Amino acid sequence: MKRVAVLGSTGSIGRSTLEVIARHPDRLRLVGIAARSRTDLLARQVAQAHPPLVAIWDAQRAQELADLTGRRDVLAGPDGLLALATHPEVDLVVIAASGCEALLPLVRAIQAGKQIALASKELLVMAGSLIMRLVQEHGTTLVPIDSEHAALFQCLQGVSKEQVERLVVTGSGGPLWGLPAAARQTVSREQVLAHPRWRMGPKITVDSATLMNKGLEVIEAQWLFGLPLERIRVLIHPEAVVHAVVELLDGTSLAQLAPCDMRLPIQYALSFPERWGSAWGRLALTQAGPLQFFEPDPGQFPCLQLALDAAAAGGTACAALNGANDVAVQAYLDGHLAFTDLPRVIAEILERHAPVAHPALDEILAVDAWSRNMAHDLIPRIPQWSPR
Ligand code: MG
Repeated sequence: MKRVAVLGSTGSIGRSTLEVIARHPDRLRLVGIAARSRTDLLARQVAQAHPPLVAIWDAQRAQELADLTGRRDVLAGPDGLLALATHPEVDLVVIAASGCEALLPLVRAIQAGKQIALASKELLVMAGSLIMRLVQEHGTTLVPIDSEHAALFQCLQGVSKEQVERLVVTGSGGPLWGLPAAARQTVSREQVLAHPRWRMGPKITVDSATLMNKGLEVIEAQWLFGLPLERIRVLIHPEAVVHAVVELLDGTSLAQLAPCDMRLPIQYALSFPERWGSAWGRLALTQAGPLQFFEPDPGQFPCLQLALDAAAAGGTACAALNGANDVAVQAYLDGHLAFTDLPRVIAEILERHAPVAHPALDEILAVDAWSRNMAHDLIPRIPQWSPR
């Protein structure tokens, strides 16, 4: 019986994780859940799943959560998240909170020898070198939940790094793929948020539209699998049937194919190293239609290029990229920034950032905070910038 804690239980991945856990009561036990601030949904999850531990990052809402659940033992604030992530009753921690508040709990969970199932690519983008070094040092396992990386992870079972020529991260192209370049300049919020293949939270859906998501995924793959940037390739695959390909040195390619359902990679990350039966749909190859693959043009998707530039710069550049993107996307979702201004904000911040090589945790957090502050400062002044 694996005892599981879920950090970020109210988000899209968190909710699916609770579904997967509920499907396997003989193998998985939900020991704790945590969210940033959504007390109403968190309280409903407590009422439904009765986890022994419950935490809320926003300490000011702890009382509200206690009132809603009738629980007097709510773990509150950043320390509450740390207590949950390192609790002796927990074997495996699912990290599904996208904010940087999950970074320290992730680090402490690894140091406490917990198994990790990681959905939050942002944390690997910020601190991949540090996280993977700690995973090695503490002899634990980290299984990615991000669908492409879950696919790569599965293809790489029984394959050594020396046998790999290249990793291919595929992407559907997001909601704007196929639109002429001019039309991408004037897209509505509804178009941006209507992803053709995956139902996901708003932040990642915007990242899919700009292809920033693919850029972040290249950085994520670089750290997870320890391969240099030039051996990781992005291909647009609109049918989203093949989630990743591993090209081996003998000319063989291994691909992973599955329905677009995040419960599959979540279940695999929870079952690893086993593989369990599931009730989540099957892929019908005869229905999949012709499968197409295209090389994306980073010139048409400036956010993809910015991510690749930050990856090449290394050090804290990716933390600066991630913080800037996070704030810019939120400003876009709140209606304070135009879609076409997203890359302008990020580019400006990367321009001003002098990357620190081999950063420690406090340096990463400092760059994250600097980048976020800089983005908050720049965004209201964007209308005064010279025209593009
Ligand atoms: Mg993905």
